[in-house]
Amino acid sequence: MLELFLENPMQLKLREAALPTSPKNNEVKMSIIYGGICGSDLRVYKGSISYAKYPIRPGHEVLGTVIEAGVDTNCTVGTRAVIFPNTFCGKCEFCKAGKTNICKHKQPLGVAVDGVFAQEVIIDAKYVVPVPEEMASERAILIEPFAVTVHALKKANINKGTKLAIIGSGTEGLLSVALALHLGAEVTVIDVNPVKLELAKKFGPVSVFTPQEIKDQVFDVVLEAAGVKSSVEQAMQIVKPGGVMVALGITGDSVNLSPIHIVRSEISILGSIIYTKQDFADAIAYLSNPDFFVDPIVSKIVPVNQFQEAFNDAATGNFAKIVLEF
Ligand SMILES: [Zn+2]
Ligand SMILES: [Zn+2]
Repeated sequence: MLELFLENPMQLKLREAALPTSPKNNEVKMSIIYGGICGSDLRVYKGSISYAKYPIRPGHEVLGTVIEAGVDTNCTVGTRAVIFPNTFCGKCEFCKAGKTNICKHKQPLGVAVDGVFAQEVIIDAKYVVPVPEEMASERAILIEPFAVTVHALKKANINKGTKLAIIGSGTEGLLSVALALHLGAEVTVIDVNPVKLELAKKFGPVSVFTPQEIKDQVFDVVLEAAGVKSSVEQAMQIVKPGGVMVALGITGDSVNLSPIHIVRSEISILGSIIYTKQDFADAIAYLSNPDFFVDPIVSKIVPVNQFQEAFNDAATGNFAKIVLEF
């Protein structure tokens, strides 16, 4: 079978690997259909995540079919499923409180441990999430990245008429546009890239601006999904008094925050990291609704042997989700 493999940063290849053996009692074997290229895959590829391990098989966003199931699993052969790609221990105080997303022992697949960009993989059944039969595979591949959005938007109370600004229109930003419009929010999108702003407009009635074009507008909720210093600082400036800033983008840079502004204006800053199983379930429920419009998210689906071009294209920042077909 074929798998993607990163010997070192920037040295990505598609190579022949041995087929996985039979799954253990608690595991399943899956034949992978699609793999979505994520921002974190690009960061592992470029070598910009300090805790990434090499060599590594990348990838965490996959849809596949169960082809063999251990005796202690409830998985049925033939079921299509996605993978919950962050391990959790189930025993720490956070896991016990249902917050597996901040488990002390969490390991992200494809970053710290081998990922799932391969034609066949074996995985613990507790990380296998079945997909409804009627859901198209092109929609199902969005469950994992969309669960990130679902988790983030739950942090703020998004309702009909909520004035929401989304800074950054990568996949998470665009999925947030889709969900916020579905929930009836008034959506403004801010991005430095005009190509992405045009893409954001495909989801429905949104106002779009470059960061420089935002003057004295303020918003009930600001979702920071760009993950750069200047956008985090702008996010703080454009929250209304009493409003909420949800921090979703990841940057290691220090930013300038004004405590007096946060205190006097009673601004809440809420961090949001990945998702829980409940967010996966909610993501599936939204994606099962035909009225929930996300079609523009998948920019293209390419055969896995075009992986290099796919990663290069993803790295330009001009596309939404690029999906590899295994
Ligand atoms: Zn991802
Ligand atoms: Zn834990």
